Amino acid sequence: MTDSNWFDSQTILDGIRRWVEIETPTEAPEQVNKLVSVVAEQYRGLPVTLERIAGVDGCGDHLVVRSNWGQEQPGILVLSHLDTVHPMGFIERLPFRIEGDVAFGPGIYDMKGGAYIAHHAFRTLCATGDRSPLGITHLFSSDEEIGSPTSRALIEQEGRKAKYVLVTEPARDGGKIVTGRKGVGRFRVFIKGVPAHAGSRPEDGRSAVRELGNVILALEGMNDLARGVTVNVGVVRGGTRPNVTPEEAYAEVDLRVVSLKDADEFVGKILALRSKTEGVTVTVTGELNRPPYEKSNAGASLYEHAKALAGEIGFELVDTHTGGGSDGNFTAPFTATLDGLGVDGKGAHTHYEQLYVPSLAPRARLLHRLFQTLR
Ligand SMILES: [Zn+2]
Repeated sequence: MTDSNWFDSQTILDGIRRWVEIETPTEAPEQVNKLVSVVAEQYRGLPVTLERIAGVDGCGDHLVVRSNWGQEQPGILVLSHLDTVHPMGFIERLPFRIEGDVAFGPGIYDMKGGAYIAHHAFRTLCATGDRSPLGITHLFSSDEEIGSPTSRALIEQEGRKAKYVLVTEPARDGGKIVTGRKGVGRFRVFIKGVPAHAGSRPEDGRSAVRELGNVILALEGMNDLARGVTVNVGVVRGGTRPNVTPEEAYAEVDLRVVSLKDADEFVGKILALRSKTEGVTVTVTGELNRPPYEKSNAGASLYEHAKALAGEIGFELVDTHTGGGSDGNFTAPFTATLDGLGVDGKGAHTHYEQLYVPSLAPRARLLHRLFQTLR
């Protein structure tokens, strides 16, 4: 059998279907663990060592798969997450189905498809008796979609040991891979006012909701698209009844920045927000959750290498930057990192999430060729 016989999009899709049909919302650890068991089982008989790390803080287990060769020197770290944003039962609304060249399902694009093609590339490497020049470590995490609170330390630790990091997040905009990601900050705003009967004693009240209006305008005013800075007040709550001056209000805020310098500036500005109304307090908590990353020198040559391999396989690899954060943000500051190596498709986090079936074989082959050639 030649290498290319191992890469058939339909066969790969059958494997992805099995992973997709086990729903894995981040907040349902027993479901994530069910999939972890299936994935672990699929390594049976292969020359690997499995390490399953028990979940904590309401998250599922992480699985680390290490090749039995090449582990004495810095090797290749593959980062995938098995959790999805979709709640339990979402598969009723978005069942696995195929329409022409498109396959649908919860998490099929972000990122069970990508996790699976890297797994498939590794299996193929083993089945053909190949031993890559570098050792391969594939980390499947359980909590990426909530910011990786329980896997971040593990990702950073493995990332520091590695020479290259390959992230199987979805490809962007027609197959592009990702060499730059914005940093992400998350904040909560708590506003405390003074309640009163809004009809009979309005002069006694200090409205937290009114102050929330000031806070929203201040935050939204920080947006600077030309500079790549976005600030989104994505959640607001406040008040109890129409006839009560609201005592409390609340907001959740997402910040995206291109550089660490901007991160420092805007995190500082957001944390420094104060009330403009006497008798009302504004308290902001939060931080930069994922640092931004730009194409570093090592990352640039890794990208050029991948581009040449894609050319040999028969597709053009183009790189892009995205505002979306990933676990690649954690490793890019110190190890050459290439992201967006997952499947092509669209609709991440939506009810029309889908992958393009013909992208499966060439992109699995690219991962296989990276394994074979990185040294
Ligand atoms: Zn993802």
